[in-house]
Amino acid sequence: MSTLEQMLSVGQARDRILSQFHPLPTETIAIDDCAGRVLAGDLLARYDLPPFSNSSMDGYAVRAGEAAGATRDRPVALPVSGDIPAGSGLPPAMPPGTAARIMTGAPIPPGADAVVPVEDTDDSRERAGGPPALVRIAVAPRLGANVRPAGQDIRLGQTVLQGGTVINPASIGMLAAMGVSRVPVFARPTVAVFSTGDELRVVDEPLGPGQIHDTNSYSLAAAAARCGAQVLRLAIARDRLEDVRQRLEQARGAGAHLIISSAGVSVGAYDVVKAAVEAEGALTFWRVRMRPGKPLAFGQVWGIPFFGLPGNPVSALVSFEVFVRPAVLKAAGRRRWDKLEISAALLEPIDSDGRETFVRVIVERGPQGFVARAAGNQGSAVMSSLVRANGLLVLPEGVRQAGVGQRFPVWLLDGADATIGEGTAE
Ligand code: AMP
Ligand code: MG
Repeated sequence: MSTLEQMLSVGQARDRILSQFHPLPTETIAIDDCAGRVLAGDLLARYDLPPFSNSSMDGYAVRAGEAAGATRDRPVALPVSGDIPAGSGLPPAMPPGTAARIMTGAPIPPGADAVVPVEDTDDSRERAGGPPALVRIAVAPRLGANVRPAGQDIRLGQTVLQGGTVINPASIGMLAAMGVSRVPVFARPTVAVFSTGDELRVVDEPLGPGQIHDTNSYSLAAAAARCGAQVLRLAIARDRLEDVRQRLEQARGAGAHLIISSAGVSVGAYDVVKAAVEAEGALTFWRVRMRPGKPLAFGQVWGIPFFGLPGNPVSALVSFEVFVRPAVLKAAGRRRWDKLEISAALLEPIDSDGRETFVRVIVERGPQGFVARAAGNQGSAVMSSLVRANGLLVLPEGVRQAGVGQRFPVWLLDGADATIGEGTAE
């Protein structure tokens, strides 16, 4: 094994991995199906938004100059020359010395340069039928008041959505506003996941002596799904070449873009995974200077990128966050794959052995910003502290002792927004 074994920093390992990933091909899908997908290519505005200048209020279109000086005591009376509901075609020009009743979203008639809200006139919203013959303006409008000019939001040709971003409800609204019904997106990566280990039992199987439930195929599948991947969770592979090989073949048969296995990358267990992958590809075993998650195997089988993640459940998930997530996001067409990061001050000292350390922490809001404390036992098999944590505090390589009050970056974990409370101890 030693010939294949390499010591790498987290950054080096991530760079090597990411160099092997490229955005998947694109496809075009219906706007109804595009939520959560990654937009392929910038969207340029096909026209101004709004396309025509229109009223932001129900009221009366006027020439501001003709209603200057209007007050509640001395209103300005104007004959009403038109009635413009939303959806009417472009209205005729408004004759000088008149006003036109207008509804929100209706086009401003040529000649008018302000809209007086109905509340500032002697008309009332409750009035039925057509407009009155005469309207009294009780408040002088500013030039341009309550007029949304054409192109106020977006100008023709402007970039309205950037390629590589996830399509959210707001972007879907923008696509619809721009008349885009068919949306170019990147294909979703298919990620195959399986656990290896003779001690593992399926979640609903009873446990015999020395057995544990398979944790990792479920947690890793969920983590991959969170990255927008289509996930194929395969059955547990025993520590036998044939079993691992079968899983790899299943993954290939399903068109996987990426294969993840857990366990079998520590000394002794490695040989099975190594032999199975190397029969049809290549695998390099790394010792990454990180904690948790030191052992990591990366390679390819039939050209499909392959990750051998550590078996300890916390190491598996942290390694996923550090290495697999960026790779999946890059394949998915995303332009950025860094985690949402905040800076938090330590509430207690934390030691490290000099490796880059991802400390499971509880982040809270303190009076001077975010504060963090360890979420419990940091052992790489201790799931409870990861469950309790809402962040991973990143102690850079080389830092052996971090003191109270020192600030470090913290990656927010899924759902952190719901659990960051007000700090009690500071
Ligand atoms: P290994 O890499 O096979 O030496 O496994 C390292 C540790 O992780 C051992 O304690 C395994 O029992 C444990 N482990 C491996 N796979 C899983 C899994 N899928 N779920 C939970 N624990 C696991
Ligand atoms: Mg094992």
